[in-house]
Amino acid sequence: MAQKAAKIGKIRSVTNWINGACRDAASDRWADVFDSATGEKCAEVVMSSAADVDAALQAASAALPGWSRTPVLRRARIMFKLKELIERDRAEIAALITQEHGKVLHDADGSIQRGLEVVEFACGIPHLLKGEYNDQVGTGVDTYSMRQPVGVCVGITPFNFPAMVPLWMFPLAISCGNTFILKPSEKDPSCALKWAELLTEAGLPPGVFNVVQGDHVAVNSLLSDARVSAVSFVGSTPVAEHVYKTASENGKRVQALGGAKNHLVVMPDADMDQAADALVGAGYGSAGERCMAISAIVAVGDSAEPLLEKLLPRIEKLKIGNGLNNDNDMGPLITAEHRDKVRSYIDIGEEEGAKVLVDGRTHEITDSPGYFLGPTLFDHASRDMRVYQEEIFGPVLTMIRVDTFDEAIQLVNDHEYGNGTAIFTRDGDAAREFANGIQVGMVGVNVPIPVPLAFHSFGGWKRSLFGDMSIYGPEGVRFYTRLKTVTSRWPTGIRAGADFSMPTM
Ligand code: NAD
Repeated sequence: MAQKAAKIGKIRSVTNWINGACRDAASDRWADVFDSATGEKCAEVVMSSAADVDAALQAASAALPGWSRTPVLRRARIMFKLKELIERDRAEIAALITQEHGKVLHDADGSIQRGLEVVEFACGIPHLLKGEYNDQVGTGVDTYSMRQPVGVCVGITPFNFPAMVPLWMFPLAISCGNTFILKPSEKDPSCALKWAELLTEAGLPPGVFNVVQGDHVAVNSLLSDARVSAVSFVGSTPVAEHVYKTASENGKRVQALGGAKNHLVVMPDADMDQAADALVGAGYGSAGERCMAISAIVAVGDSAEPLLEKLLPRIEKLKIGNGLNNDNDMGPLITAEHRDKVRSYIDIGEEEGAKVLVDGRTHEITDSPGYFLGPTLFDHASRDMRVYQEEIFGPVLTMIRVDTFDEAIQLVNDHEYGNGTAIFTRDGDAAREFANGIQVGMVGVNVPIPVPLAFHSFGGWKRSLFGDMSIYGPEGVRFYTRLKTVTSRWPTGIRAGADFSMPTM
């Protein structure tokens, strides 16, 4: 990696990327970044000031006129090259994710793959930006529409997907002709510089893509600056609400994706082996630090006992340890503070009266001293409990038992979050009714994590998304462009003389 971010193994100094190069920041505030599997400091990252944000905005604003007029095929070719470079370096990127975030290497690699698919989608940008045309909408009059870039765009991203979530944003923003400033999570900031380096190697002109490291100080400077046209945010719901409100009050286009509590409904006729496999993967993969993780099990009718019979031995067998060992299923949590917060939820659930069937607090991790917590399973939870209502964002599954399918639907619909959900059943009618009636943005039928592929769009409902448009895919193209419609008439029409009444075609 570039000058300031040395190889894994040393303590990196992670700074900003502005106008085509790593820059020393004006700010003298720094934060430590930890290897979550060992608990050792592996990097430090600058907490940018308003002056640093201003430098990035100057670069992005200066690059905008040239980049937005660059022919779309040339912009697409940068994406083709970026795809090649990500494929070349994906092992290095996966190791960086594993070190700073903690997820197991194969999982880190999978997240790169899902991000890469957005780059592949962006390679087709000439086709995606094709407008519409009608000739002879009136005598000698034609109308056509085009989608033009919105301007300087900002992306603010969470810790749990340091590679994938930025890739949900900048490939489309840039290929649509915008310039971009990424403000990554301060907990795992190094990937952002890797994107900057690869884009530069791919031939992107300076200033089109910039990185500002930091915390709420940098975010709030970006949200209030008139040079920013659009803001994509992904993170927790309270911050998403703040970003949505502030940025929209300041006249920006905003999409703010927030937190989740994703239910997996198990019908009595489900294939219980399939449901149990789905639950361990979707509940404990990435240590539950996924916005599409399953965190609530809804056992319908008499499905709970046969499900538990299959689920408990699978939880028992989970291998937990350093993510650099690809044989492990689950790595550590991101920080000691977050691990303690998740552990405190297990205390809360127990006090609230949920039955602790598997207790992650007692799990011994032998191969690494970092921020580990074993998997937890609660049974007999009820809808008023905090462990059911709140997003825990850790390896904790909470089971609620209900009598009927209708009760299951009601439960999911009553929850404040609506990111993802799934039903496991063999019954087509139940599945169809579920998909149609559920108040959730992304639905799986016998698929536990229904993250749409890059040529569809990703987004939740209710308090999981603030704004009108989902992220990436066709909705992403709409978000990063605005519509212009041209109505034209050529000289013979003008020779007919001036017309002073309202045109009616
Ligand atoms: P977070 O909200 O703490 O941080 C997200 C970003 O906002 C970071 O860049 C952070 O620096 C910045 N930020 C934090 N506090 C801020 C403040 N007060 N003012 C301005 N900016 C602030 O989220 P996180 O802990 O990094 O990530 C986990 C959360 O993200 C979970 O809630 C998870 O569900 C959610 N998430 C949602 C999706 C989705 O697609 N809906 C995807 C991934 C993660």
